[in-house]
Parts: sequence; structure tokens; C-alpha cells
Amino acid sequence: MPMNELTDNDIKAFLETAPLYSWREFKKPYANRSSLWISEIDAYCDICEQPRPFQDLRPRGGGAGMAVHALKSGTSYFTFSCVSCRKAHREYLVEQVLDDESIRIQKYGELPRSKLVRNRVLQKFLKDDLDNYEKAIVCLSHEYGVAAFAYFRRVVENNINALLDLVQEDAQSSGSDKSILDALADLRKDMPMSEKIKIANLALPSHLKLDGLNPLGRLYQVLSEGMHSLPDAECLQKATATSECLAFLVSELASRAEHRARFKSLVGKL
Ligand SMILES: [Zn+2]
Repeated sequence: MPMNELTDNDIKAFLETAPLYSWREFKKPYANRSSLWISEIDAYCDICEQPRPFQDLRPRGGGAGMAVHALKSGTSYFTFSCVSCRKAHREYLVEQVLDDESIRIQKYGELPRSKLVRNRVLQKFLKDDLDNYEKAIVCLSHEYGVAAFAYFRRVVENNINALLDLVQEDAQSSGSDKSILDALADLRKDMPMSEKIKIANLALPSHLKLDGLNPLGRLYQVLSEGMHSLPDAECLQKATATSECLAFLVSELASRAEHRARFKSLVGKL
């Protein structure tokens, strides 16, 4: 894969999202860049209780006649403050390793400690299996791909029937085709996973397919995949995709069920 040249935006995204101790590699910037310094990142401010821009508010001395040093291997320190309250801060320590063509960076310190991102709707749906979900999220946040994928597979395995219940209920209340309802019922039967994947790809009402992508089929696919041979990076991608498929289906279905219930009770009062 060809590497991208390191830009300010890359550094910003890296500071905002990269986990501790994971490396990112870029082509060395052509521009005459003497440090990794950038002026601003976006972060959630606990004091303002909303996402805010955070800026480096330290005075920048750059006196005339000062020599411009080329960017070297070593470490960099970043500090940013919320532009609104100026009381919340973010600090990062980064190691950079340069050679002739590339630059590799890793975060080796971060304050405050970054929070794990959990999906509320999924947490509720998985309330009986939170242990596996929690472990999956922790592994994902460290980019431990193999482990994250293994836990997400377990989550899908344990909850696929509950998910089918939701899909079925939605399909019934929205008057889906008989062919879709039959296919959904077939998914409960005992049959080889390869058959189930084919059926799952037909069984989802079209309003639950995003751009024609079928999240239910993808989830069945996950269950059939051997993972011992997959490289870590690929497992990480699959873990992320699994998490997103689950989140998409569960939150769509939950909000549709809620709308239906509200509609019914309103119309009942007419
Ligand atoms: Zn603030």
C-alpha cells in the first residue's frame, strides 16, 4: 500500500483517535516542517459538556534569524486547551522515528486518559452479554485485532437469535413480503452456515439495507469465518465492521419499534 505524506490533518486525527503504543507510518513530509506541531484538535470538553476545538495557547516564539531545524527522530509534546472555557486541557507525548523516506509515530502518553466509546443502544441490547461486549471494546481500543474479532464473534453468536427476534418483529409490523418472513423463519432452522448466509442475504427488508449492503448477511458471514489464519490488521477491520453492523441494525430496529409504539398510543387516543 502506498504511504501518504504526513499532513497536519493526519497528526490531528492521530492525536484524537490513535490508541497508546500503536504505530502509524507516513511518507516524510516534503514541506519544510521542523516539528510535528499543529495548532488545533477537536475533543469533547467535560467542562463545556460538548465537543469543542482545543488549541495550543502557548506563546509561539519564532524570532527572526532563528535557524529552522529539520524534523528529527525524537519525541514531541503537545498541549491544547478548550477555546471556550480554557480550563479543560489535553496533553500528548509522541515518539517520532524518521528515516530517508518515512516517518513513524506512536503515542506514549495521553492526558486525561481517553475514554472507551461504547454504543448505548448496543449496551442495552446486549445487557445479558455485557462481559463479552466490554472485552471486545477494550481490545478494539488497543487495536488488538485478533482478540477484538474473537470477542465480537462470540457476541454475535450469543445474540443472533435475539437479533432475529427484532428483525422478525419489525418485518411483521411493517407488513413485509411473505418471502422475507419465510426466509427469516428459515434462519432458525438447523442447516449449514453457508446456506444461512445465502438466506440472510435475502431475508432483510430493504429499509434495513444501507446502500444495498446487508448487515444481517455480514453478521452470518462473521460466524462462518475461521480467524486463526487472518492477520491482525484484517481482524481489526472485521471487528470494527461487525461492531458497526450490529450497532446499525439494533439502533434502526429499536428506533422503529419506538416510533411504532408512540404512533399506536397517539392514534389510540384519537
Ligand atoms: Zn471547555
